[in-house]
Amino acid sequence: MEKKVSRIGVLTSGGDSPGMNAAIRAVVRTGIYYGLDVFGVMRGYQGLIEDDIHKLESRSVANIIQRGGTILKTARSKMFLKPEGRKIAYENLKKHGIDGLVIIGGDGSFRGAVAFSKEFDIPCIGLAGTIDKDIMGTDFTIGFDTAVNTAVEAIDKIRDTADAHDRLFIIEVMGRDAGYIALHSGIATGAENILIPERKTNIEDLLSSLLEKQKRQKLVNLIVVAEGDEFGGADEVAKLVKERMPQIETRVCILGHIQRGGAPTCLDRLTASRMGYHAVECLINGRHNVFVGILNNKMNYVPLENVGKRKGTVSDEWMKIVKILAS
Ligand code: ADP
Repeated sequence: MEKKVSRIGVLTSGGDSPGMNAAIRAVVRTGIYYGLDVFGVMRGYQGLIEDDIHKLESRSVANIIQRGGTILKTARSKMFLKPEGRKIAYENLKKHGIDGLVIIGGDGSFRGAVAFSKEFDIPCIGLAGTIDKDIMGTDFTIGFDTAVNTAVEAIDKIRDTADAHDRLFIIEVMGRDAGYIALHSGIATGAENILIPERKTNIEDLLSSLLEKQKRQKLVNLIVVAEGDEFGGADEVAKLVKERMPQIETRVCILGHIQRGGAPTCLDRLTASRMGYHAVECLINGRHNVFVGILNNKMNYVPLENVGKRKGTVSDEWMKIVKILAS
């Protein structure tokens, strides 16, 4: 029979995402509701190694559900990649009597959790905190909705100035391996072209569509590019366009880190609250070393070692919609 947990830790690791605070709050308050002691670990796995671990009370997470970033800070830890580092982390957890961990992060953080849970008898639960939405086994990740709404708001503003000057704007959004932010924000802002890592772009088609639109005086042109597209981001796409079509006035705008910040949307707060609650339920009910996702509005629990990046799953339907609606 599984050992009962009584003292749990929560940490945020890897890239930050809006809504992590809402998830921390849910873990802390659900844990306390069930009579557990809850500890916050600062700066992800690095804080485990440095024993930067603090008991949290219900009040410790007051007034944070609406805040971006993470009150626990986040970090990347080189030491945790090594067995010696993970051993120190384990000893520190034992020192505090912590017997369960909730890890809010991306696929890298989950790989860390798998390595750790294989070596030591501390059950780990993973929650997807990433703006890229590129994790298998879940329809939502904490932060994606906020990031994509931030991108939409910014692109709407760019459209106004593009319209005033009849310019082509090439806008880069985040997404090194996944094009979901580009796809969703591009469709929602009426972009003519969306370039994503999951799909090859026929540059000749793109250029001839620009030419054709210029001929019929379709004056506002927006191209949304994921930073990890095959050409290497917006600057590279702009170079290609300028080389071949110098007559078109082109501007590049890279949205960058504004996409990671800001108050989480309602959806991200709900997702984070629901996942945080279920993470604690998993620890209590002996459903250990799993990732907590939501699929078709139901909780979906996947063994952490089977969780990886979701790749190449942008549907043909969406790509067709982009093409039709941009005409
Ligand atoms: P993300 O969680 O956002 O994908 P990273 O890939 O940077 O971010 O991973 C976060 C941290 O997880 C790393 O800094 C490292 O400490 C830990 N980690 C990642 N992969 C492993 C691994 N294979 N073994 C142990 N720890 C890992």
